[in-house]
Amino acid sequence: MRDIIDYIIRFLIGTEQAGRLSPCIGYTSDKRLFDRYLIVFTPSGFFNEGVYGTQASIPTLPLQEIEGVPLLFGSPKTEWVGDTLLIHADLIASTYFLLTRYEEIVRRTERDDHGRFPGKLSLPFRAGFIERPIVEEYGVLVRQWLRMTTGSNAIHEPEPQLQKLWLTHDVDAPLFCQSLRHVARETLKGMGLTEAWKLYLRPEHEDPYYTFPWLLEQGQIVRDAWGEERCQTLFFLKGGGNAPQDKPYYPLNLKLLHRLSRFCSESGGSIGLHSSYSAGLQPNKIIAEKRHLERATGFVVTYNRHHYLACREPEDLNTVEKAGFSDDFTMGYADVAGFRLGTCRPVHWINPITKRISDMQLHPLACMDATLGEAKYMGLNEQEAVNYVLRLAQNASRHGGELVLLWHNDRVSEFSSAKGLDYRRVFQRILSEIVDEGL
Ligand SMILES: [Zn+2]
Repeated sequence: MRDIIDYIIRFLIGTEQAGRLSPCIGYTSDKRLFDRYLIVFTPSGFFNEGVYGTQASIPTLPLQEIEGVPLLFGSPKTEWVGDTLLIHADLIASTYFLLTRYEEIVRRTERDDHGRFPGKLSLPFRAGFIERPIVEEYGVLVRQWLRMTTGSNAIHEPEPQLQKLWLTHDVDAPLFCQSLRHVARETLKGMGLTEAWKLYLRPEHEDPYYTFPWLLEQGQIVRDAWGEERCQTLFFLKGGGNAPQDKPYYPLNLKLLHRLSRFCSESGGSIGLHSSYSAGLQPNKIIAEKRHLERATGFVVTYNRHHYLACREPEDLNTVEKAGFSDDFTMGYADVAGFRLGTCRPVHWINPITKRISDMQLHPLACMDATLGEAKYMGLNEQEAVNYVLRLAQNASRHGGELVLLWHNDRVSEFSSAKGLDYRRVFQRILSEIVDEGL
């Protein structure tokens, strides 16, 4: 546990300065140790036996605040004990709670139809701070207290700009009409046999879902404005799956997927595994899906995201790590956009059951396209959707974090845009505002 507390203290201070400053901060209620530190956080009892893992460890609403920031554990009181600043706000437990998805292991029975913990039941949503990466706001307080206790102004805030914009695209359906079954489907849906047949005979690159060059182009526009390093396009491809939710099943030997892999190699994009719905239910399947994708594309695949964002239980990430992934991009909610882990920075995965810190990094997903428009999720109109994502981008930029967006290739096609929110235009507007505002 000591290594996790040390990591959280360093994470709050910010990686660059953490090495020299973290020894100044203690986490103890032992008065004899106070004078070893400039700042001491007093434990609220969250980690105590008989509390940890029980309903008693879930904060009740309304939350208290410390300097305008919601506080999950402890009290906002601060006091001097000799030369040590004693902070009764348990920012260590509050941060741990958010980074580890702790409430999901206590509230095991609260799941949606797909077995996912619903964002709208989460503490960040219920307490009204899902749009704010409050772990970063804790970091601002910690650095302020460090300036006060060290008397040094050489403790810096992170540069206020998006460190990285990840434009990620889950390829649930690479083609709109890829088989005779689809011809039948569209005929029955009212397109008529002639039109459906014509669509089937079109070359792959004229298929309505073949939006990959357009998506890569959007990333290139940002890279041209910001430089290559700060924006990356990622395509997540399926490597298996046999649940109905994994339809349409597609073979990885499609010519267009080879072309997509080549495009990615040439233009700064990359490929990750879109772990199937079945693998969400039986995590061990991820290992075979990764292997299959690597063989088919020739890429070494180190990025993962689950289909339906259905990485159901926190400990399921064990298998993602075991399969050899270095980075996971699943950690957002389907039903509400925002900061699921309370942070906008990549963070090492911590298993709240075993209290083990892993080398694998989680990149918090801020927003998925359908979350914004679908009536059962947020049900926003175009202007509201653009404004909402811009607020998330501004909040991430203010703290020098990253922004991960998920837009599906099929949702920016001419066919999808005809129904409901025009995700193609929303995507373009968000990117152009992010660039224009210099985030
Ligand atoms: Zn998917």
